[in-house]
Amino acid sequence: MLSREELKEIAKMYGEDVFFVSLYLNVCPVINVKSDYAIHLKNMLKQTSEKLDKNILKKINGDLARIESYILTNKRLFKNGLVLISSQEKNFWKEFHLAIPVKNEIIVDNTPYIKPLLDILDNYQRNALLLVGRDSGRLFMIHLGEIEEYAEIRTNDVPGRHKKGGWFALSEKSYERHIDYHVDLHLKDVLKKLEELLSLEYVGRLVIGGSEEAVTKLKSMLSYAIAEKIIGTFHAEMSANSKEILEKVEPILHAFEKKKEDETIDELIARVMKNENAVIGIDDVLNALQEGRIMKLVVQKDYKQHGFSCKKCGYLTSQELSICPYCKGEMQKANYLIDFIAQKAVEQGALVEVVSENKKLQKSGNIGAFLRF
Ligand SMILES: [Zn+2]
Repeated sequence: MLSREELKEIAKMYGEDVFFVSLYLNVCPVINVKSDYAIHLKNMLKQTSEKLDKNILKKINGDLARIESYILTNKRLFKNGLVLISSQEKNFWKEFHLAIPVKNEIIVDNTPYIKPLLDILDNYQRNALLLVGRDSGRLFMIHLGEIEEYAEIRTNDVPGRHKKGGWFALSEKSYERHIDYHVDLHLKDVLKKLEELLSLEYVGRLVIGGSEEAVTKLKSMLSYAIAEKIIGTFHAEMSANSKEILEKVEPILHAFEKKKEDETIDELIARVMKNENAVIGIDDVLNALQEGRIMKLVVQKDYKQHGFSCKKCGYLTSQELSICPYCKGEMQKANYLIDFIAQKAVEQGALVEVVSENKKLQKSGNIGAFLRF
């Protein structure tokens, strides 16, 4: 999982006369319909070799070869964004598989290039997950589709609900109170760890699960600031493994994302109506793209459209033109216009949000954008 701590360690690496190759590759299947990233990679590698100083190139040839063979043989691991950092001289290799696309680039430098990874950490919130029982608690972090256990809390002396041995001397009522006291102590420990996790950077939301008794009690103990972060609750056995937990929690996270998507589309439409830095429909989006104004592209999943692209300058249009209005270059048919638009938007530094299903967006043309100006 992407963590600021790890990135800080990587950022500290430096070598005089030692080089790191950092590759960012957009492997998103929506944008790269026919594994087009392999072609993009080949072009990038070629350009890198051509412009680099011969002595540096000699040092990193092994890294470039390793990166290329990795990408050609590990396709099934890919998500949407792939980051590889390699320095054979330093015996260093690191791979990040990201749930979001990245802008294609290769950087060769004396230090690993991690700025885009830091940007991702800043822009995509992490989710905290708490699984709580009457004598145990487990905390997890979920970020971009990955889950990681953060802490486990065990309290050994919480008595059971059924009286045993010496406790028969106590009345039913005081026995209940005795249990409550111990459960409360345990939950206070859990809460302390939870606060610690939530105080980490960019942990925005919380999902709670576990035994009904413990969940209800814990919820009554939460501060408003924490209670406000809860986006759902679920049920799972305390001994469930990470994969089982992730499967249970993903529908909650998806429902929340869906709600946010719907809000995004509502805002987009409202801003288009008020003419406030937003456009909707393919032609307006293409114009904004051409002018480099897109801040965030919003596109309906599975939206397909063909159009035309300029062989010389890359100008895109949905109109049938034979000559580019910008450079007089020859236009060719583009079967995957939306993929080209998304790729170009990412290259301009825009975010791309693929919306799962939204009727309003479908009715308004399947594609829209928030603009920088
Ligand atoms: Zn052109």
